[in-house]
Amino acid sequence: MSENCNNECGSCSENCPSRKGPAPSMKVAPKESSHIKKVIAVASGKGGVGKSLVTGLSAVAMRRAGFKTAILDADITGPSIPKEFNLHERAMGCEDGIYPSLTASGIKTISLNLLLEHETDPVVWRGPIIADMVKQFWTDVLWEDVDYMFVDMPPGTGDVPLTVFQSLPIDGILIVTSPQELVGVIVEKAVNMANMMHLPIFGIVENMSYFTCPDCGKQHHIFGESHIEDIAKAHDIDTVLKLPISADYSSLVDQGRIEEIYEPAFDALVEKLKKIAPVGC
Ligand code: ADP
Ligand code: MG
Repeated sequence: MSENCNNECGSCSENCPSRKGPAPSMKVAPKESSHIKKVIAVASGKGGVGKSLVTGLSAVAMRRAGFKTAILDADITGPSIPKEFNLHERAMGCEDGIYPSLTASGIKTISLNLLLEHETDPVVWRGPIIADMVKQFWTDVLWEDVDYMFVDMPPGTGDVPLTVFQSLPIDGILIVTSPQELVGVIVEKAVNMANMMHLPIFGIVENMSYFTCPDCGKQHHIFGESHIEDIAKAHDIDTVLKLPISADYSSLVDQGRIEEIYEPAFDALVEKLKKIAPVGC
């Protein structure tokens, strides 16, 4: 309890143990002209599992389905969204705020790399500054009308992702794993985090799930058989995407041509996200 407690919890921002009623909201407000209907956090237990690839492909799939789509690159220390979409010009600003960069197919995008003078500059900031930067991507960018925004989250379940979850009005989570990870444990952690935040899990993506032999067309499970469906079932998650290890994907992503990829596994995600809210059209 704070020293100056007057038992007026409704007008107090302290989150003390004797607080009555819900904790104060730490959510930050976007620009008045910004109307973002659904926000999906793309999260993973650690880096390098394909979180940015999945963020990019999710946005591409929703855009192709006709929705106004955006990407907020919250992975400040490892921003890779601009490269996927071949965005190298610095984002423009005006008195009112920052304009998001537009990809070839019209996906609105903001990333630290679009604001740095040199995109190779390293980011050596501490956690709170990084979290503030992500908040500013939400509050200071002129997003205008967006049906679905995908947030490429910082990896893990540490301080920075937690602050991002608390500050942005996230509607649900898409979990990305790879078969090399201790998938059961990773998913369990993500489910626990989602429960703590009272957020639904919209789906699980198992990246690098299999490899299709270019000669015989047979699918090989390089990292062993997948148990992702059983794990998803155990946690009542109804949407599971399995992505191949694909040299084509990595080469197109490297060339900034992610919008040319059509990965059929994302059809299920499009259907799922269409159902979460009557948006667009
Ligand atoms: P993260 O965001 O989790 O750190 P990325 O999405 O940036 O990971 O992926 C790391 C690298 O691996 C990138 O170069 C990406 O293009 C490549 N990659 C990711 N998934 C696949 C895949 N299924 N097939 C081929 N390359 C992949
Ligand atoms: Mg990444």
